[in-house]
Amino acid sequence: MSRKFDVVVIGAGPAGYIAAIRASQHGMTVACIDEWVNRDGSNAFGGTCLNAGCIPSKALLESSELFHRAEHEFSKHGIQHKGVTMDIAAMQSRKDGIVRQLTGGIAGLFKASKVEGLVGHGRLLADKKVEFTAKGAKPETIEARYVVLASGSVPVELSVAKFDGKRIVDSWDALDFDAVPKRLGVIGAGVIGLELGSVWNRLGAEVVVLEAMDDFLFMADREIAKEAAKQFKKQGLDVRLGAKMTAAKVKGKSVLVDYEDKSGKQSLEVDKLVVAVGRRPFTGELLADDAGVKLDSRGFIEVDHECRTSAKGVFAVGDCVRGPMLAHKGSEEGVMAADLIAGEIAELNYNVIPSVIYTAPEIAWVGKTEEEVKASGRAYKTGSFPFAASGRAKAMEQTAGMVKIVAAKDDDEILGVHILGPMAGELISEAVLAMEFSASTEDLQRTIHAHPSLAEAVHEAALAVDKKALNFPNR
Ligand code: FAD
Ligand code: NAD
Repeated sequence: MSRKFDVVVIGAGPAGYIAAIRASQHGMTVACIDEWVNRDGSNAFGGTCLNAGCIPSKALLESSELFHRAEHEFSKHGIQHKGVTMDIAAMQSRKDGIVRQLTGGIAGLFKASKVEGLVGHGRLLADKKVEFTAKGAKPETIEARYVVLASGSVPVELSVAKFDGKRIVDSWDALDFDAVPKRLGVIGAGVIGLELGSVWNRLGAEVVVLEAMDDFLFMADREIAKEAAKQFKKQGLDVRLGAKMTAAKVKGKSVLVDYEDKSGKQSLEVDKLVVAVGRRPFTGELLADDAGVKLDSRGFIEVDHECRTSAKGVFAVGDCVRGPMLAHKGSEEGVMAADLIAGEIAELNYNVIPSVIYTAPEIAWVGKTEEEVKASGRAYKTGSFPFAASGRAKAMEQTAGMVKIVAAKDDDEILGVHILGPMAGELISEAVLAMEFSASTEDLQRTIHAHPSLAEAVHEAALAVDKKALNFPNR
């Protein structure tokens, strides 16, 4: 007799494991299938985010930033030292420990919530049946009332720069380097390129980032992107725009990269090359021919605004469906799917998903850029406040950047908030909450912010929208 569950989730990344836990909170019987295999052959829940993405990258960003500050900033505080050195093995083992703790934590959460965590491959058959194959075992058919697909994404591989796992690598390998490469090439100045480029640059690598687009951080507000580019240049990150790679070949211990920019053919020799040109949805061996789930032209699982697929009772969430490939977006979709399955009303406001790039300074935004508002034709006003005028930022020795708010001229509604600066990824939550409640800049202006705090910069930017900033001349 086949096992039966109310809900079977395929994929235990941040989208899938959260869907499973929420479904169990509704009193449903739940199984969550995941096949993730780490480099050492071990299995772990948590998907890309915990094993090879958000968490390990943030651990390395923290370590490398502390090293950088010790080298370049401590003396300003009067802290004298006779040179600092970095123990890469210790840095990597701290990172691995954090990953182990958190992925083990999901197994613990499953146990506590009575979610059956199944290690192996899941494949959706017709009529909400799922074929589960544990390693080395025969396939077993599991029956479900509802299925949630959360199979995630994988890095895009370029035909002109095939991954070899040693010299031409993806972001996962770039998180695991056991030594600082002397010369590091990065293809793509997107989120991964900037975050991992920063890590290895701070630790001493000469980093060259080749970006095909002419605009730096094309998805961000132009003013913020321009200022961020200035800061990265100061840090020694060599970002070359309009650079189209034509070939990358391993030669001995080097990688020879050919690319073209507006001055013509160029070449670059590096010790390692990280290719970070985006990720694609992963649906390998996920769907039987008669599963009834449609994919769109780019390979994403087709879903409606409630994450329902074309097969009745089958939902899909996270990186394998449309929308930004972000852990928090996937998790909230997982919650929505589980709530809908439980018969509750649930929806997700896709207009207020925050984006954060964890460089130093951090870059964070929510809502529309000034350029997008301008293009929409809606009359608008803007206000900004530099961290150079913030007492807290000065005390922290982190005065680069600003908070910028774009608001509607007619009803003062906040349309977008853009932050370049210390803890931007934390500060943006206030803006997300404000926008979720359709707040006006006046609402922010009249909200009391603690002093001295970085959040005062958000307050002052809101005041600046109406030329009422108190700690900076209004323009
Ligand atoms: P995934 O996390 O990819 O999980 C999918 C899981 O499903 C995997 O474990 C996979 O093995 C499993 N699976 C797939 N198919 C099957 C099958 N048929 N059977 C069984 N199991 C299956 N996002 C942020 O929001 N913030 C960040 O700071 C951030 N940093 C990142 C840094 C890096 C270097 C990378 C690469 C990504 C980063 N991301 C970040 C993106 C984030 O990791 C993804 O958006 C997120 O992991 C997507 O979650 P998911 O659950 O949809 O998919
Ligand atoms: P990305 O889409 O952020 O950036 C890819 C960059 O590569 C783009 O700027 C693109 O123009 C460029 N590019 C594409 N093809 C190129 C080529 N042939 N030559 C040179 N440049 C080229 O993708 P990513 O950095 O690989 O990240 C993948 C996903 O992971 C993103 O969608 C992101 O949301 C997610 N992620 C998020 C975070 C975070 O939230 N902090 C961190 C890392 C990754």
